Amino acid sequence: MNKKVKNVLKGVGALAAAGVGVSMARAATTYKAKPIVADASLEPEKVDVERFIQHLSKAIQIPTIANRDESLVDWSKFDEFHEFLKESYPLMHEKLDVKMIATRSLMYHWKSSHPEKDPICLLAHQDVVPVTPGTEGDWKYPPFSGAVEEGFVWGRGAIDMKNHLIGVMEAVETLLEEGYEPERDIYVCLGHNEEVMAEDKTCGAACMNDYFRDNGIHLDCLIDEGGAILGVKVDKVIDGHLAGIGIAEKGHVDFELSVDAKGGHSSQPPKHSALGKLAKAICKLENNQFKAELTPQLYSLFNEIGKNTTYPVRCVASNLPILKPLVTKICSSIPPVASMMRTTTAVTMSQGSPAPNVLPQKATAVVNFRIMPGQTVEDVEAHIRKVVGKGVDVKLLAGKNPSKISPTDSRAFKVIEQTCKSMDPQAIVAPYLVMGGTDARQFEDVCDNIYRYSPFLVDLGLVLTAHATDERIPVASLENGVAFFKRYIRLLTKD
Ligand SMILES: [Zn+2]
Repeated sequence: MNKKVKNVLKGVGALAAAGVGVSMARAATTYKAKPIVADASLEPEKVDVERFIQHLSKAIQIPTIANRDESLVDWSKFDEFHEFLKESYPLMHEKLDVKMIATRSLMYHWKSSHPEKDPICLLAHQDVVPVTPGTEGDWKYPPFSGAVEEGFVWGRGAIDMKNHLIGVMEAVETLLEEGYEPERDIYVCLGHNEEVMAEDKTCGAACMNDYFRDNGIHLDCLIDEGGAILGVKVDKVIDGHLAGIGIAEKGHVDFELSVDAKGGHSSQPPKHSALGKLAKAICKLENNQFKAELTPQLYSLFNEIGKNTTYPVRCVASNLPILKPLVTKICSSIPPVASMMRTTTAVTMSQGSPAPNVLPQKATAVVNFRIMPGQTVEDVEAHIRKVVGKGVDVKLLAGKNPSKISPTDSRAFKVIEQTCKSMDPQAIVAPYLVMGGTDARQFEDVCDNIYRYSPFLVDLGLVLTAHATDERIPVASLENGVAFFKRYIRLLTKD
């Protein structure tokens, strides 16, 4: 057993010990998941699962691959995709306004009788990442086959994110078929270059944000990819479905550190070459990490999980407020959890002289930081300068500040929570921090309530197939996806 695991177990032991004898009654009574109050007016949502499967399979068969260099994009595939949407969702194309924004982004506008109310927006991206050349043969079913086999729909985009896009389209089309009349406008926005341009001010999502801003349209809320429903099962401790609602995104920045020196022949080296001095600076940075904090989002995530554990475990979990310092210590020693608690420091590239017998005249290293909401690129630069001290040059290469944090007491967040819980008694709904970037952050000019959540039950193994080999989605998760979007739309546009 390695030291880290031992430390963690020791911590858990301490946590358990501290919990014993404290608030056992509280764990048995107030500290537990609230029972779901059934809303009698909510009928189960009708979903044509077979149609969803067929449409998702077809969508995957059209390789809508974007590129930063637009001259390298096969636009005919996007045109084919638009044609496919037109054929598959006739009512949406008949009853909604459809606009093409930027090169191939699509904006659907479902008008209500209340144009004075802030509209809601459902966002998804049409593009998918390419398959890494040489790995095509590793796929069990060809990546653009859309094969429906072994209980899955297979192919690039099955998880990221044609499942979500087609789920939204199915939901809206079905609501139209059912004669639903929203009392608030609805926008469906489909970006076309999220995978390559999400951070660029000229990407499809940014242009759609500009459209809203320039037309004085403020959005009530927006939902995009980001979170998912993950099964969490630990024998005798917890058995639930964790719906992680992304309420913010980390930022990132790359800095180049460099040290200059005279150089010369390696036969007469100084005590420390430029590279040696730089190595010292790198060590300092790694040894002086940003402070890890149990953020309110993480606290609330742990708290929600804690409330859903079995009785004896809840005795410990209910003491989370007192155990905060200990939990912070334990979690900050587990890298995947620590990355949700601090701005991370990763030294990724380094260079010295061009030959083995030449002393470097300049040694450089690149450090990549993932920035926590609440901190900025400038904060990171100040931290580096303070830690490495004099003699090391610090140069900003490129970076982006974190997103804003969306509130968890908004109408939209509560509707997500209510929708999840009304559909799944095992749902544990909690806010969390998205590590990667999405199109959603482009809409901060026109929306304060931005949530990142895909309502499909998957396991971690499947999530990791996004951008990788054998990307696939369980057929069994599809019905819930459409039902969620239908109910979400209904609840947010009924008044
Ligand atoms: Zn995506």
